[in-house]
Amino acid sequence: MANKNQIEVKPPAEACFICGNPNWRFLYKAQDLLHDIEGTFWLFECPQCGLVTTQPKLDNEHIEKYYPEDYISYPIAVDQEKTWHQRADRQRGVRRRAEFAIGETGMKTGKVLDVGCATGVYLKGMQDRGWESQGIEPSDYAANYAKEQLKLDVKHDYLQFDSYPPNQFDLVTLWDVFEHLPNPTETLEIIHKILKPGGVLLLSLPNPESWDRRWFKEAWSGWDVPRHYYVYGLKTLKQLLKRHGFRFKRIKSFTGRHGAMGISFEFLLKNRGASEKKRQSFSKFFHSYAVRALTYPYFMFADAINRSASMTVVFIKE
Ligand SMILES: [Zn+2]
Repeated sequence: MANKNQIEVKPPAEACFICGNPNWRFLYKAQDLLHDIEGTFWLFECPQCGLVTTQPKLDNEHIEKYYPEDYISYPIAVDQEKTWHQRADRQRGVRRRAEFAIGETGMKTGKVLDVGCATGVYLKGMQDRGWESQGIEPSDYAANYAKEQLKLDVKHDYLQFDSYPPNQFDLVTLWDVFEHLPNPTETLEIIHKILKPGGVLLLSLPNPESWDRRWFKEAWSGWDVPRHYYVYGLKTLKQLLKRHGFRFKRIKSFTGRHGAMGISFEFLLKNRGASEKKRQSFSKFFHSYAVRALTYPYFMFADAINRSASMTVVFIKE
């Protein structure tokens, strides 16, 4: 069996696109633990710069089935939530993202593009705060939801060179999107073109230097194969963005706390063969108010030193 597994492992044929190193280190064999959709994948790490890549990388046509309508990143509108505390919780999440993004621009209002806007919940938050808001989203379901339910200005498409005229936006945001891009260099060229000079680019993405990664190993929610093509460390990301004309402004962690760890626990239990019933009761326990309250200081500390599961990184177009 060991031999068979070794034959199956296919390291990327291409060199690391960040540092040019041609050799890859095998990390893990992996599968879709979020939706249990069939397929075997492998994670490889560049020993030189730390970039992690998924093999094989599915093309646009074959990746589509891994984005079903119940995908966790396609949430319903906040006011559709059943209970007041769910609505309050969701509202808080939108407020923190929107206010952080606006704060980074130093402007009261302006023009924002959200790339991979999903169902448009955050974009609606920007619009509610007076921002001229546009989105672009390849998922048919999510783009339609944003347009029809939230009445947002959203294109159903991948971001392309002719999607928008140059020097249009004060702010471009990619919340949990950059790691899903098969061709990140092209996307950066497009964003550089459509941002105004001095405009802000905000990316939130999984943090491979997080404690969650160290503890959960192959079950870490940040890998999320095959949807994530690359996982970037801060140093690698800075190197890449600098090459494309973006100046690093700062890193702030505030989106990868309890919820992200809950997903990693779910994946860990799945990998260990725990029944659905067991996983559900653990999840209920983990998401209880008591556990949330007890673990709160831990997550605050992890955020403060950027060791939580997700990081938000801000760049300026030079
Ligand atoms: Zn590298």
